[in-house]
Amino acid sequence: MSISQIARTIKASPTLALNEKAAILRQKGDPVIHLGGGEPKSKAPIDAIVAAAAHLNSGEVRYAPADGIPDLKKAIIRYTEENYAIKVAPENVMASGGAKQAIMVALQAVVNPQEEVIFPSPYWVSYPDMVRLCGGIPVPVVPEDGTFYPRIEDIEQRIGSYTKAIIINSPNNPSGAMYSEEFIAAVVELCEKKDIYLIMDDIYHKLIFDGRKQINPLKYAKKPIEESNMILINGVSKAYAMTGFRIGWAVANRKLIEVMTNIQGHQTSGPSVLLQKAAVGALNGIQSSIENLRVTLENNRNIMMARLKSFDGVHVTVPDGTFYCLADFSNYEKSSHKLSNLLIDKVQVLTVPGVEFGMEGHLRLSYCGSVKDITEGIERMKWVLDPNSPNELYIGDRKLVRDWS
Ligand code: PMP
Repeated sequence: MSISQIARTIKASPTLALNEKAAILRQKGDPVIHLGGGEPKSKAPIDAIVAAAAHLNSGEVRYAPADGIPDLKKAIIRYTEENYAIKVAPENVMASGGAKQAIMVALQAVVNPQEEVIFPSPYWVSYPDMVRLCGGIPVPVVPEDGTFYPRIEDIEQRIGSYTKAIIINSPNNPSGAMYSEEFIAAVVELCEKKDIYLIMDDIYHKLIFDGRKQINPLKYAKKPIEESNMILINGVSKAYAMTGFRIGWAVANRKLIEVMTNIQGHQTSGPSVLLQKAAVGALNGIQSSIENLRVTLENNRNIMMARLKSFDGVHVTVPDGTFYCLADFSNYEKSSHKLSNLLIDKVQVLTVPGVEFGMEGHLRLSYCGSVKDITEGIERMKWVLDPNSPNELYIGDRKLVRDWS
């Protein structure tokens, strides 16, 4: 079989593959605990359901404008005003099939073959493959001080004549690190000075803890939106627990949005109007579900951190937001794939190998599930890894006996 050169460089999404694995094991009746998930467990807001149901009931679900229906654009404009203190026009907005597609189309609109796209490491699994799909070269930047918080010097050092864009995701998937306001201000300034696109992946910007305040990168932009190279990315997947609805968006200068709309028009003709209606319902409806989710996640984070502390050899940076942490298990096992497989095989706990995010020896653990899953999942992991743990473990009424050391 002959496949394209680009396709040959693309891997399956490890997080999606893990979800499939969890589903298969559950179907077999295995008592799986999924600590690798990437979606809140709460229900979609009722306003989203009602809005989509009303449209479905009309029996007319048609093609819609490739850049999004006017109602959704209006709701996104209001969201942008509330969160970024800027009034944009409908021509500055493109709705997409999730934030994922918005990022992908933005990259397709700006990246030429062999051009480079910089992003701090650890990074979201899809960034490198998205850049490769455009024929570009992903340039992950590992913070030199060994933390999850990049310094502006780390980024600046990697900028060269081929640098086309920088992607910033804060708070960050997989580490939960929220970058400092000084760092964000410096990146905005740097991108303006060097004329580099700045893709702000703000998908988790409302899910932050410990009283932290959302950071508005536009506060530091000197150029007006129509001259700006900043692309704001957001969506309803995480904050509204609407992952399966697949609605996200990009806000940028008109010229770029026009180009992106042309691309998206040929790819998908835009996201489903039914699901856009649901997003309109969520964005215009009662907002209390976001704060409820945020408080639940902060509590879950605290529980996970407390449990992880009971592991002698595990190091973890306390996440500032999201629903992930990236814990260092290299004292137990250097290969994160080996470790992740061992945990599935021995105790049916699913985790994502850190190497997929650029951090070997680490595992990404999600705390978006139930408290029971978090406590039981970590207990099972401890049983596998800690040589001082008792020989036996009960999973339900199944007794497991350690046969390894
Ligand atoms: N960016 C980051 C950092 C993410 O973690 C995700 C989802 N895992 C996305 C973008 C994509 O979100 P969506 O579901 O809106 O496509």
